[in-house]
Amino acid sequence: MSLPVPATPSISAMEVILNTISLGLIVVDSQQTVTLWNDWVARHSGVEAKQAIGKPISEAFPEPPSRAFSLALTNTLNYGLPVVLSNALHRSPLALFERMLDAPGAVRLHQSVTLTPIQIGDSRCCLIQISDSTTSIKREKILRSHSELLKKEATTDGLTGIYNRRFFDEHLKMALGHSTRQNSSISIFMVDIDFFKEYNDFYGHVIGDKALIEVANTLKQQLLRASDVVARFGGEEFVLMLPNMAQDSAVQFAEKLRLAIWNSDIPHARSKIADRVSISIGYSHFNKMEGTDPNALLSTADAALYEAKKQGRNRCFYKNLPQLSFPKPGN
Ligand code: GH3
Ligand code: MG
Ligand code: MG
Repeated sequence: MSLPVPATPSISAMEVILNTISLGLIVVDSQQTVTLWNDWVARHSGVEAKQAIGKPISEAFPEPPSRAFSLALTNTLNYGLPVVLSNALHRSPLALFERMLDAPGAVRLHQSVTLTPIQIGDSRCCLIQISDSTTSIKREKILRSHSELLKKEATTDGLTGIYNRRFFDEHLKMALGHSTRQNSSISIFMVDIDFFKEYNDFYGHVIGDKALIEVANTLKQQLLRASDVVARFGGEEFVLMLPNMAQDSAVQFAEKLRLAIWNSDIPHARSKIADRVSISIGYSHFNKMEGTDPNALLSTADAALYEAKKQGRNRCFYKNLPQLSFPKPGN
């Protein structure tokens, strides 16, 4: 039984392959003279092989190659080292276009270029391979903008556009870690709209949504620094976190929040305590130096809010954090 003889492509078959491949192929000799120029390069440069072959590569394109390309080519030919010009650093080293130069709106191709030293006879030549990165770059851009959008959607509240509970929980965890390490303080303010069920029942859900948006915006406007955060905690509840705020400033800030909503003057015909929308605020304060429990910050602010409601609403109530309990010596 005879083994099948592998089919070796003939010279003309090789030519067909070189000219069909979806890749730019150029060969230059040791003097940087073009000796091969495939159809892909011809198509994207507008220069036919017969015009390019025999010319120095610096003169073969409609515009000279970039400095980085010329340097890389000289290095490959002098030292026999392969070089890759990645698209990230070198967008478009050669004058190659998506459409022909003379066509309206000719756009330069994003390229990845690989220079490989090859030995032909006694002479060191260079094989230049060019691939079109335009599509992968476009795809990457789309993916990046999708992922940014998803990230934004995952952290913001759909109705009000401020941060959501999920973001807040994560952010608070980080901020508490930071404040424990740095001995800095954090104040938390829980805000709840008074008699909002009655508001919805009387004005309807759409107007209710509008009121929520207005309250969220007004609260956001009261923030002082980039590190301050306001989030929708759920329903008609909001939460604010302000790092590095002295305790007496927290008292003033809570009152500032309450007044800001009061002065928005959103009519509320069914409130049992006023003629307009009002809020109740419960707040608390953490400072490591005081030996209090940072994990109780949210629940303490929430308990303070409950007190503010119980005492008549449209008011602020402060509650101290519980002390951290340490095991007694000997236990
Ligand atoms: P309190 O003063 O004790 O806080 O009374 P309340 O009526 O504000 O509290 P309750 O928890 O009974 O009602 C909250 C209402 O908030 C219930 C619901 O109608 C309304 N609500 C919650 N989320 C939304 C929302 O996304 N849009 C609208 N329009 N209303 C909401
Ligand atoms: Mg509530
Ligand atoms: Mg409420």
